Amino acid sequence: MPRRTPATSSVRSSRLHSSHSPQSPRHFAVVGAGVAGIACARTLLQAGHQVTVFEKSNQVGGRTATHDSPFGSFDAGAQYFTIRDERFALALDTAPNVFRPWSANAIRVLDATGHVASASQPPGEAHWVATPGMSALADAWAEPLRQGGHLHTNAHVVAIERDPVKPQHWQVRAQSPDGAQQVVAGFDAVLLAQPADPARSLLTQSGIQTPLVAEIAGVITAPCWTMMLAFPQSVRPGLTTLGPQWNAARSTHHRIAWLARESSKPQRGIVERWTVQASPAWSHEHLNDDSSRVQAKLLKAFAEVTGIHAQPGYVEMRRWRHAQTTQPLGRSHLLDSHMGIGACGDWCLGHRLEDAFLSGLELALAVDFSVNFQQQIATGMLESMKAIPPGA
Ligand SMILES: Cc1cc2nc3c(=O)[nH]c(=O)nc-3n(C[C@H](O)[C@H](O)[C@H](O)COP(=O)(O)OP(=O)(O)OC[C@H]3O[C@@H](n4cnc5c(N)ncnc54)[C@H](O)[C@@H]3O)c2cc1C
Repeated sequence: MPRRTPATSSVRSSRLHSSHSPQSPRHFAVVGAGVAGIACARTLLQAGHQVTVFEKSNQVGGRTATHDSPFGSFDAGAQYFTIRDERFALALDTAPNVFRPWSANAIRVLDATGHVASASQPPGEAHWVATPGMSALADAWAEPLRQGGHLHTNAHVVAIERDPVKPQHWQVRAQSPDGAQQVVAGFDAVLLAQPADPARSLLTQSGIQTPLVAEIAGVITAPCWTMMLAFPQSVRPGLTTLGPQWNAARSTHHRIAWLARESSKPQRGIVERWTVQASPAWSHEHLNDDSSRVQAKLLKAFAEVTGIHAQPGYVEMRRWRHAQTTQPLGRSHLLDSHMGIGACGDWCLGHRLEDAFLSGLELALAVDFSVNFQQQIATGMLESMKAIPPGA
């Protein structure tokens, strides 16, 4: 299994039983199958509850998306992850074959003209990528949910309503891409694992009176225009890469904040490919521009920063409306126990994949268990995530 950085949190290392039966199993709806939603749902399942996950996309993983092209894949969202918390490290241990270190010694900081200002990697902090693409991690973690029939994809939750038959319960109204709606009833609680703005909108549109709405309103996120480029013409004898010697860089160019050579990541294929992320301010300013206009401007900036003036053989654009948290909530999750409504996501703690995982985990622990029992569940669940039998 891959080597990783030493664990840092205070979780006890004692080995505990791998399954737990709650006093009274309950049924939870989880809205969103990004890393936070998957961590939340897996924890609740492990604790013996019933869980139904609704995901509006046809795949899981949210902002850890992998984009496939004829020339190889791109990490369209999260580029890599770091490991700072023991619980995240334990969960990663359950999927050892889907992540590898990425040689980030090539990460640079560029000045506005594209010149290298400094090497930016903090000493000792390894950079990891899922393989063969970033979405592989969420895919692996979601597999027991999928196999157990707990995951509904293409299910966009458009309303949360009181169950007319049992008004103390919730029902969820979900819409498929063809516009058809289905109502799934009988939930004790609904846990939102969406980005902050969509979570707040869903609560507001559903007319749910909860202090969560005001608390989420304090969270600020920034958009990100992302451009993915392939240069198949660079693959010929004696020439494997174009442009700079570095493989990734943070940039202070006013249009571009980050660039990475996708083909430098493990198991990604050899065709020269770059992912370019526009800066938060520039993305915000051009959020509603036509994609082709944004592409033209970012291509110009890409050439300025990298010195690559060749025309790419492939270009794909992606607009992330809620890419990165700039003002987090400041605690791991939100829970209105009285109403049976909770919320989690990276935005609770920060802007990283690991933040999303920890938030989902903490929300699941908070919805049911006593404080003493939480620690046991945390350690037991993390050690046994791989032990959940399909269909459990
Ligand atoms: C461009 C970009 C670059 C990034 N780079 C990095 C990086 O290098 N390192 C790092 O650690 N992190 C990075 N991140 C952040 C990282 O991707 C996120 O922190 C993490 O993936 C968030 O997970 P989440 O589960 O909280 O939310 P999401 O991944 O956004 O998941 C939310 C899910 O909810 C679904 N959903 C939303 N509304 C509904 C609804 N009404 N009904 C049903 N489903 C719904 C969505 O489709 C989505 O699947 C980056 C993000 C972006 C966008």
